[in-house]
Amino acid sequence: MTAHPVALVTGASRGIGRAIALELARCGYAVVVNFAHNAAAADEVVELILNANGSALAVPADVADSADRARLVAESLSAFGRIDVLVNNAGITSAGRRDLLEATEESWDAVFGVNLKGPFFLSQTVAREMVRLIREGTIPQGKIINVSSISAAAGSTDRADYCIAKSAIRMMTELFAARLADEQIRVYEVRPGVIETDMTAPVKAKYDSLIASGTWPLRRWGQGDDVAKAVAALVGDFFPFSTGDCLNVDGGFHIRRL
Ligand code: NAD
Repeated sequence: MTAHPVALVTGASRGIGRAIALELARCGYAVVVNFAHNAAAADEVVELILNANGSALAVPADVADSADRARLVAESLSAFGRIDVLVNNAGITSAGRRDLLEATEESWDAVFGVNLKGPFFLSQTVAREMVRLIREGTIPQGKIINVSSISAAAGSTDRADYCIAKSAIRMMTELFAARLADEQIRVYEVRPGVIETDMTAPVKAKYDSLIASGTWPLRRWGQGDDVAKAVAALVGDFFPFSTGDCLNVDGGFHIRRL
């Protein structure tokens, strides 16, 4: 069992998840670096943490798969003996960005599996373990952070499944926050705007022009580090009387203007 608090970050081999894993390691967390396919990229994240005298472990698991989720949690506990923080970050975008009238069930099932079913049931599994660990005095409290998207509130008619799944993360966050408050587990949503990662690379030109025209007041691309700092603040216990909240990391995109 490690004396350090432990963070399990899904989809941590690249992009926003990678930045969150590195930031939480800097904050003193031992980090479980979950990934889907790219073992080399996940190993690189682990190496960076180990080279900075931290602790980390890469664990492959498809968050949409029930057996994989169970193994992810079991391997995290057998390596470190505790989980203090879960960050539900792994996500995929809508296949082919098809118009609402051409949207497919295949994309719907894939997006809902990774972006909603996975976070829901992983939260359930991890929360059960956190409750046990808190009751036996191994950890003082737990935190669950759900990474949603501005697409939870801003519709794109070529990504309906993505928007609907992300909007459901809002209710999921509130439900877990309400249920787990008495268990000393707080739950938050972090809602990124347009962040420069592999996910947004195919639509870079579109977002470049939205930035230039001031679609969000802070005229720049968001970076993984912007989201990682928000996650670090939420797990850093600066909000002891808040749970179920949503923290926007979107350059002010959510501000309605005339
Ligand atoms: P990305 O595509 O760069 O990285 C996604 C990560 O999730 C990868 O590490 C990938 O391996 C992992 N992943 C995908 N499917 C998985 C699965 N089934 N099981 C486990 N891991 C899986 O994406 P990103 O831009 O870093 O996005 C991270 C999160 O932030 C996602 O939930 C995304 O919806 C959200 N988000 C991104 C943006 C953006 O502009 N990039 C904006 C808002 C929200």
